[in-house]
Amino acid sequence: MKDVCVVVGAGLAGATAARILAESGERVFVIERLNHIAGHAYDEFDENGMLIHKYGPHIFHTNEKKVFDFVSKFTSWHYYQHRVLSYVDGMLVPFPINRDTINSLFGVNISTSEVEDFLKEEVKNSNFNNPPKNFEDMVISQVGRRLYEKFFKNYTIKQWSRDPKELSADVAKRIPTRSNRDDRYFSDKYQGLPKFGYTKMVERMLEHPKIFLVTNCDYSEIKDEFKAKLTVYTGELDKFFGESIGKLEYRSLDLIFETLEEKQHQQAAVINYPNDYDWTRITEFKIMTGQKSDKTVLCYEYPKDEGEPYYIVMSEENMQKREKYMKEVEKLEKSGEYIFVGRLAEYKYYNMDQVILASMEKISNWLKR
Ligand code: FAD
Ligand code: UDP
Repeated sequence: MKDVCVVVGAGLAGATAARILAESGERVFVIERLNHIAGHAYDEFDENGMLIHKYGPHIFHTNEKKVFDFVSKFTSWHYYQHRVLSYVDGMLVPFPINRDTINSLFGVNISTSEVEDFLKEEVKNSNFNNPPKNFEDMVISQVGRRLYEKFFKNYTIKQWSRDPKELSADVAKRIPTRSNRDDRYFSDKYQGLPKFGYTKMVERMLEHPKIFLVTNCDYSEIKDEFKAKLTVYTGELDKFFGESIGKLEYRSLDLIFETLEEKQHQQAAVINYPNDYDWTRITEFKIMTGQKSDKTVLCYEYPKDEGEPYYIVMSEENMQKREKYMKEVEKLEKSGEYIFVGRLAEYKYYNMDQVILASMEKISNWLKR
């Protein structure tokens, strides 16, 4: 095995690494503990032939042309711009907050040029730490307390099961505020869904004569049996080190799928429920995938502590532990025998494109050594 590269995990970080290594002539073993590839981006056709995302809704979006070009070698696209509505005060309004959200919710009729002053006034009337220290401060510094309480406070408590003051301000940076009528969730240049699904796309990434894939195989059970030339690790950061610096927290989800005998059920692919019910959001996949059918599938997301690690948790305590683990990672990476990359391995709230970019860059640096 000394002349072989091992990639732990067949998600997007692992598949990107495996492909680039194989294309440069390396022999690559990909080890995946689940019974399928594509990691959390995994999708499948259900018993009615409807394409569903097993780990929740995934929309590809990026401003990085080199990432878009790379994945486009393995898929064509269903071009789709994601839109989300939020159920607030008994109304469905656009989210992220834009001019129409404010007009509908407050029964006013302000123009785009007036939105900035409206929000400034909302912020002026609110108490918060400035500069912002945490998630709550960051949102209030942008939209004020009234809008924070309607759209963010309770969603965040449901999602993370903690006081929003305990979460990093960086989580809030994921959500923009717009003064115009743009109601898209993302404003990246390239957006869409792989035409035949993420699993198919990853399958094609791994289809290479120098890539050998083993599923249902946990790295921790076999790692002492061989020494690889390079190990690319994409699993949980703390698990690699036997949790020696302490356990990192992950957040999981119960996803409940429901099939309805209807052509379309919702007014948008995703509806967020910040204040009502126990779920955070409901997705209707066919609005995203563009699939035609007399049936439709909904997915309700119920956050929970234990289970498959869907999210890292950006609290101060976790981020401090992360720093310590990353010092160990740095040492291992310096040896040239290890690379840690991806959402779990770097303990970073990465989107898919960021994972792919990180993997592309780390592998190409290793190849240049
Ligand atoms: P993963 O997909 O987690 O892959 C890691 C793989 O490693 C897994 O398959 C795991 O089983 C395997 N593994 C771990 N440990 C071991 C081991 N010891 N041995 C063998 N195998 C192991 N991103 C977007 O860009 N757009 C979206 O709309 C979007 N929506 C999301 C919605 C939800 C609900 C969630 C949870 C995430 C969403 N994401 C989205 C983020 C996206 O899922 C991740 O950025 C991306 O899938 C991470 O890829 P990865 O390869 O780093 O990790
Ligand atoms: N968020 C919120 N209200 C919403 C949507 C998001 O308060 O209606 C907050 C919440 O804390 C969430 C974070 O913003 O966890 C990031 O949202 P995003 O939609 O990016 O979450 P993801 O798609 O990663 O689950």
